[in-house]
Amino acid sequence: MRKVEVVVIGAGQAGLAAAFHLQRVGYVPDRDFVVLDHSPRPGGAWQFRWPTLTYGKVHGMHALPGMELADADPRRPSSEVIGGYFDSYERAFGLRVHRPVRVLAVRDGSGGRLLVETSEGGYAARALINATGTWDRPFWPRFPGQETFLGRQLHSSRYEGPEAFRGSRVVVVGGGTSAVQQLMEIAPVAAATTWVTRRPPVFREGPFGEEQGRAAVALVEQRVREGLPPRSVVSVTGLPMTEAIRRARESGVLERLPMFEQVTPGGVSWADGRDVEADTILYATGFRAAIDHLAPLRLREPGGGIRMGGTRALRDARVHLVGYGPSASTIGANRAGRAAVRDIRRLLDGTPETQT
Ligand code: FAD
Repeated sequence: MRKVEVVVIGAGQAGLAAAFHLQRVGYVPDRDFVVLDHSPRPGGAWQFRWPTLTYGKVHGMHALPGMELADADPRRPSSEVIGGYFDSYERAFGLRVHRPVRVLAVRDGSGGRLLVETSEGGYAARALINATGTWDRPFWPRFPGQETFLGRQLHSSRYEGPEAFRGSRVVVVGGGTSAVQQLMEIAPVAAATTWVTRRPPVFREGPFGEEQGRAAVALVEQRVREGLPPRSVVSVTGLPMTEAIRRARESGVLERLPMFEQVTPGGVSWADGRDVEADTILYATGFRAAIDHLAPLRLREPGGGIRMGGTRALRDARVHLVGYGPSASTIGANRAGRAAVRDIRRLLDGTPETQT
């Protein structure tokens, strides 16, 4: 069991921002803190994003602290652009990410330390920064009859571009950015597309001002403060209206239907007797926080979420969650990384180590 001051789990935007700030205040990588990540390459979840999600299509990627992402070609896949940028970043700051290392569980240990069990041995840490994102926990809604469907059902996280949908009748479920972007790519090659969402989608005209951003983040923050599971920031900001979306709406691709009642062997059907035949159902239904490894710490409230004060778990001051809830955006992750380090430094400076 190796003793360190801080373990950072996850080397996406949130984990790297935290590592940057830890180093900046004097913690030495691989001596005072370690960054662990189970993915094969640098890039966090970006390395898995589908090839047709070009850098030009991502909206509002904020650079990591201390190094700009300059001259990126908007036509290149975002997985390559951001993966390459994170790789350069880790090297430039000597962050020495340990990968692939999966964190299996975090437990309360003796001497006030947290025991971090991994696929490559254990760490005893005085504080933890959890930055594990959501990519590892795609959310699949359940519908009656799903198991009877004769076609293909997949989650948007497994989408690899429109070719696989050529000539198919496709039902796309979900009202977020992924649903809209994937639907717009699929529609020109599919035999037919149907879009269903729980709530009518809200398209936002004009730029998203700082004030609106703050208000949206405050809404998510409120849920987290109450110990409820966070909602995505996009769920409260609405979808930005772009030229491509405007065209898709005019052509009818973004005509939306309410949620169907059930899945049938040949498609989906509504309570009023309507049905649509389908070969493929694509669930662009989002993700949940990938925090199962924290279960032994019993941080969850009866509402299902972790009650937070800033980035700190209120049930355990040694545990910080960054990129969680209100900080689940690239800018939010940057800020959360800095805030977590400030808080942890205060905690560790103020708590002399107990001998074990
Ligand atoms: P991630 O990038 O998911 O990194 C988490 C890391 O933790 C991963 O590398 C993973 O391997 C690792 N990990 C997870 N579990 C474990 C474990 N048990 N042990 C070890 N390692 C583990 N935000 C924006 O601001 N602008 C955008 O344009 C934008 N576009 C998006 C497009 C899509 C399709 C999606 C899904 C999200 C988008 N977001 C966007 C949100 C974006 O994902 C976040 O802003 C940010 O990139 C998340 O960073 P993160 O560090 O929290 O998580």
